[in-house]
Amino acid sequence: MTTRTRFAPSPTGPLHLGHGYAALVAADLARAAGGQFLLRIEDIDRSRARPHWEAQLKDDLHWLGLDWPDPAMRQSERLGVYEERLATLWKDGLLYPCTCNRRDIQSAASAPQEGAPMLGPDGLVYPGTCRHRHDRTGPMPRDAALRLDMGLALERLGAQLIRFNETGPLQKDIRTDWTRAELLQGVGDVVLSRREMGTSYHLSVVVDDHDQGITLVTRGADLADATSIHVVLQGLLGLSSPSYHHHRLIRDPAGKRLAKRDDARALAAYRAEGLAPADLRRMIGFTPSVS
Ligand code: GLU
Ligand code: ZN
Repeated sequence: MTTRTRFAPSPTGPLHLGHGYAALVAADLARAAGGQFLLRIEDIDRSRARPHWEAQLKDDLHWLGLDWPDPAMRQSERLGVYEERLATLWKDGLLYPCTCNRRDIQSAASAPQEGAPMLGPDGLVYPGTCRHRHDRTGPMPRDAALRLDMGLALERLGAQLIRFNETGPLQKDIRTDWTRAELLQGVGDVVLSRREMGTSYHLSVVVDDHDQGITLVTRGADLADATSIHVVLQGLLGLSSPSYHHHRLIRDPAGKRLAKRDDARALAAYRAEGLAPADLRRMIGFTPSVS
């Protein structure tokens, strides 16, 4: 099978060193395997995505020496595809509408009988307030967020362990095996569709990686816990799971993760200073086989 990797940035700001690193890892792994590198524009958050950021990120990637088949996949053009997958999960009784806001979740999660509130890949683990409040038959509601009933999902999958194939370097924080109890307590009923987007990161990324034929998902180690959710979704939707390579994160000299707003480390700023792509690779200690 041909190796296919992808870089999936959101056009909500300039690409910085960390993005450059992620893109180079994906492209170099594809090249080393004689495979293909794809680009995907993750622009479902219409309130933050901007066409000029999309144009600039493509320009930065070309400058880095990367190329991909045109046109790149754009999530904003695929809302109907996500809707269909969501409808399948709804028909299977695996989703329920949730109208809680952040404050509702916070107070329910910190109620004394709940124990210490748990943080999962999406923040506070949802305490399940709306799980049995609504009928799950009839048409799929569109006026609320839709959450995955994780307990029911794991029951349907019948697996004792949710696991993924990690091909990246060993990193101490990466867990590749999740028990049911760990998923219920540490991840919970995640949102698969936000009211204003009609989808969510987790659903889109699973459907897109499948539709783009991605065999090796490369991304930062900060997303490794979310991979457990993606494997559950692949199982529920009958999609095969790709392999994963979670790479280290690029940090600033103080050890802090780079943020999009850290414009000093934008690739464009280094370009403007006259740095060459090779200088940049050196700066981020680029050694794809071990990073
Ligand atoms: N759009 C995501 C980000 O910029 C990438 C997610 C992924 O690679 O799965 O963080
Ligand atoms: Zn709710």
